[in-house]
Amino acid sequence: MSVVETSSAPDALYRLPRGAVPARYDLALEPDLEAGTFSGSEDVVLDVREQVEEIVLNAAELDIDRGWLTGEDGRRVDVVDIRLDGSTERAHLGLGAALAPGPWTLHLEFRGVLNDRMAGFYRSTYVSQDGVEHVIATTQFESTDARRAFPCWDEPDLKAVFGVTLIVPDGLLAISNGPEVERTAVHDDRVRVRFADTMPMSTYLAAFVVGPLEATEPVDVEGVPLRIVHVPGKGNLAAFALEVGAFSLRFFADYYGIPYPDRKLDMVALPDFAQGAMENLGCITYREVALLVDPAKATQQELQGVADTIAHEIAHMWFGDLVTMRWWNGIWLNEAFATFMELLCVDAFRPEWDRWALHARSRSQAFEIDALSTTRSIEYPVRSPDDASGMFDTLTYTKGASVLRMLEQYLGAERFRDGIRRYLADHAYGNTETSDLWDAIETATGEPVRRIMDGWIWQGGFPLISASVTDGALWLDQRRFRFDGAEDDNRWEVPFLVRHGSSSDAVVEPVLVGRGGSAVPHADGLPAVVNAGGHGFVRVGYAPDLRARLMASLFDLTPIERYQLVDDAWAATVAGGMSAADFCRFARGFAAETDLPTWQALLLGITWSERLLAGEPRERFRAFVRELIRPALERVGWEASPTDPDLTRALRGALFAGLGVLGGDPETLALAREIELESRAGGSADPSLASAAVSVIAATGGAEEFEGFLRAMDGASTPQEELRYLFGLADFRDPVMLTRTLEMTTTDAIRSQNVPQVFMKALMNRDQGALAWSFVRDRWAAIVERLAPSTVVYVAYGVRALVEPQLVEDVQAFFVEHDIPQSALQLRQTLEIQRVNAAFAARARSELEAAFEG
Ligand SMILES: [Zn+2]
Repeated sequence: MSVVETSSAPDALYRLPRGAVPARYDLALEPDLEAGTFSGSEDVVLDVREQVEEIVLNAAELDIDRGWLTGEDGRRVDVVDIRLDGSTERAHLGLGAALAPGPWTLHLEFRGVLNDRMAGFYRSTYVSQDGVEHVIATTQFESTDARRAFPCWDEPDLKAVFGVTLIVPDGLLAISNGPEVERTAVHDDRVRVRFADTMPMSTYLAAFVVGPLEATEPVDVEGVPLRIVHVPGKGNLAAFALEVGAFSLRFFADYYGIPYPDRKLDMVALPDFAQGAMENLGCITYREVALLVDPAKATQQELQGVADTIAHEIAHMWFGDLVTMRWWNGIWLNEAFATFMELLCVDAFRPEWDRWALHARSRSQAFEIDALSTTRSIEYPVRSPDDASGMFDTLTYTKGASVLRMLEQYLGAERFRDGIRRYLADHAYGNTETSDLWDAIETATGEPVRRIMDGWIWQGGFPLISASVTDGALWLDQRRFRFDGAEDDNRWEVPFLVRHGSSSDAVVEPVLVGRGGSAVPHADGLPAVVNAGGHGFVRVGYAPDLRARLMASLFDLTPIERYQLVDDAWAATVAGGMSAADFCRFARGFAAETDLPTWQALLLGITWSERLLAGEPRERFRAFVRELIRPALERVGWEASPTDPDLTRALRGALFAGLGVLGGDPETLALAREIELESRAGGSADPSLASAAVSVIAATGGAEEFEGFLRAMDGASTPQEELRYLFGLADFRDPVMLTRTLEMTTTDAIRSQNVPQVFMKALMNRDQGALAWSFVRDRWAAIVERLAPSTVVYVAYGVRALVEPQLVEDVQAFFVEHDIPQSALQLRQTLEIQRVNAAFAARARSELEAAFEG
């Protein structure tokens, strides 16, 4: 085990000197949308703690024109020298005289550029129906880009009150963190809009948005006005976001036991946004697709995506905004916790979605990375802010949220919540280390939370629990699950639940498996479910007799438990512990399956298997797929009914797409065309079927369908529909069509924010992955140039599907020469997944050919 001690000792290279620190910023900013520039001034109330001759603060890509300080007694000290250091992104302000300790106000005047890189104070654009381009000025500061908008102490523990004023052309919408409190006319049809003071908060949470935008009428949520802000004409897509937003505000105020910490909440849909959304206090910014949706036209997955994102960002208003990490090493907890709360909230919002069971599928992506030799511990020491940029990944969000869920289920939901309440109440308006959370839960529960969680946070990987029954006991042993089969010493204390007996008389008990394994009393011959409820971050390998008992009564298991059974089997297949042919036989055991998550796990294995086959074995495999899926689709019915639960619709869509794309079923192909035409004509096609039809047609269509997709994308009435068709363009298996899609990535036809996912899909295209790879390889420099730096690594994500030996060699060699320094570890993980998949494919292809040769 490799527990590393955290060091929070300030590091002079990355931490500003603390001789003078801010207590409040009065900021006035005047963007010029046409010119793409802005000017500003600020008055920063400083607490000067010791005599200083120089003020050092952060500034990047700003011109600071002049400044001075005013003391309490009115004494003025001029800034006589301004030196900007580009490498440290700091401004050194030389003073005409030393400042004595006490309160001083620093006045600075500065200018900057509204950039096109979706970071700092930046430009987003949209074209209205009359063909006119409109400009929005907006912000994205996390982690360290506030310094591109105004000179500041840009470190999370240097919290201050923000009083913001925006000077904008009359008629544009202007919003910031606090509600508008004053509006006065100034020169040239401009208005000065002043916003209420914020609570003390970190710089990365400040936000300003100015542009030709509209806001919905506010909805009153226990005294908090909630609005959706959007480009003109999209107000009809805001109702669902308002519903989720209102639900989330109430849910979190109740869960946390603390009222919402701001006076209003605006949720802003932006045409250009690098990430999914950002938790600016009182002014949350989103990609359009993450906020605006029409429930009548959206799939369950699309609606869930919107609900998840909104709940996640609102969860941050307390966890992150009110209580904030002291330094960037705490990013993981900030994001892991918000993801955990998002799932808890959406599970309460739509219990019928069974949100935790659907989360299991995302969790499998974390399992995949965490089974690599290149995985990392969830937390690690962070010196520079750049060190923490690698924390915005699947391990943070998904593994982090999953281990929190594991702990919550082990402790009990109420006791866990009590610990969270204590933590937030103790640290409101302050900053924390990870251990503060464990200590608060430990105090609330009396359990050794810090000891258990340190094992999960400070070492990479996760255990495979082997379960067997002998001598009246259930034996639980552990070793690390790795694709490369290597042994190592990482071991965990595993807090999870075990169920003894069959459904009618089952007994559930919490078990803390020790690092050396554990045994619990259990009668021989009785069924046992290890990791009952499926919330432990573990894989389980059952002894044959235990496994046979589970398979004999599958419907005694919950959906998430059945999902995990299949997913564990598939992971064993990829790792070489089970043959691909045996997986297919195992899949037949689920012929009666009725739940979406389990089918998703089955379809993943089937999709991979189908990719590896050609000719006669492929045809036989497709017949096997039809035999497996068709009865399941007939059970849920080919046609949607208005009374169908959302998950039934989603399952129908998944089975329909599987039958068409993987089974090549002619009836499905014909029906897909009908459904897609009806949907595109604005008819009432069921959204799940319409979405599935897009996948089926992309996999089989030609030039005519491609043109249809282009028109459908341009004419789409919702962001979700637009993306369905856009990403569908990358699924065309015809090389001419796919080439056209790839060429579009270099033009304005595809917004740069969507380009990484188009490449991801294209590289994973069943028949044209090699073609997509040639394009990526040959145009790499131009692709990188166009993208927000944090998103470049997603382009490479799809190489996992390129498993032919010479492609593997080419890809691996290419990235030796073309590093992605801001995402170095994620790139190494992606390359290792490619090698794991290539080894799997080499084995599985011959196993499957033998099984399906007839
Ligand atoms: Zn977040």
